[in-house]
Parts: sequence; structure tokens; C-alpha cells
Amino acid sequence: MNICAECHKKNRGCCQLIAGNTDSMHGLSQYEIDRISSTMKLNESDFICHDTVKPEVMNGFRKLDSLFDKLIPQRERARLKIIDNACVFLKPDGCSLPMEARPYYCRLYPFWFNRDSHLIVIRSRFCLAQEQSLSVVSLLEAIGTTEAELLTLYRELQHAAGNPKES
Ligand code: SF4
Ligand code: SF4
Repeated sequence: MNICAECHKKNRGCCQLIAGNTDSMHGLSQYEIDRISSTMKLNESDFICHDTVKPEVMNGFRKLDSLFDKLIPQRERARLKIIDNACVFLKPDGCSLPMEARPYYCRLYPFWFNRDSHLIVIRSRFCLAQEQSLSVVSLLEAIGTTEAELLTLYRELQHAAGNPKES
């Protein structure tokens, strides 16, 4: 069992949310929404809801990355629906979306990139991989990815956010 599956089995992890606490959820680009729709043969309204991000939360997003002004324009966010305190796509065995259809932030987490394109870790006490990894290198290995792979995904996200209607 990989570390993320183990994390889900323990009812912790990045796809679970404490009731009502959706603040940390990212906004999705239209490109990502369309990709899920076409892959899963779902209407957007089946898995997306719209809300307004609080100003202080938006400031936190902006501190992390100015890209969020495009992903959450005017603080208006299209985000994944939450059912029973978890993402609508979370099933007992983990995410039910094929990897290629998952939102970029799901595939990047718990990593991100700073303004200088340096890899950073989004610290969370709920992330089992972080709990068990003593270094960034071991965290990459635990998640099963590489910095180069993550940077490619991040660049794709930048492109998707800047060209929201492009497919
Ligand atoms: S990335 Fe971390 S928090 Fe998310 S499922 Fe994997 S181990 Fe859990
Ligand atoms: S889409 Fe999949 S990986 Fe992303 S939050 Fe939902 S269940 Fe988790």
C-alpha cells in the first residue's frame, strides 16, 4: 500500500476536510473542470460548487502564489464539492479520478513552487508522508514523484490558469 492509500485508510489526508472548513481548498481552472467532466462523463454541477473566499484567506493564497488571483478571480472560487467531510471523488480506496484527470493541486500536494521556481513543502500535520519523511528528498520518494515531474505539472497549471477556456 502506498503512503497516500495508507493515509486515507487512517481517515486523514489531503482529501478530507473538517466540516465547514473549506477555506484551504484551491480554485479550479475551467480547463481542469472540463477535463474531469469529459473523463468522468459528468456535468460540472455534479462535482463543482461556487463560493466566495474570505479576504484574509485570499491574502494567504496570494502570499503563497500570485497565480491564485487567476484561479480565484475576485475571490470567486469554483471548487470540488464536499460530501461527508471529504472530496466528492474520495472513495474508500482513495481518489476515484484517473491520475491524468485530477486537479493539478491534488497532484502537486504537498509540494508547490515559489517565485524562483524552487520546490517548497506545504506543511501539514495531517500528512502521513510528511510525518514519516525526514527530508524533502525522502518526502518526494514517499509520494512517488520527482521535482522535475512536479515542475512540469506546475507549469501546466500556470498555463491552464492563464488560458481558462483552452483545452
Ligand atoms: S499527500 Fe500527504 S496528506 Fe495527502 S494523502 Fe498523501 S500522505 Fe496523506
Ligand atoms: S480530486 Fe481526488 S485527489 Fe483531489 S481532493 Fe478529490 S479525492 Fe483527493
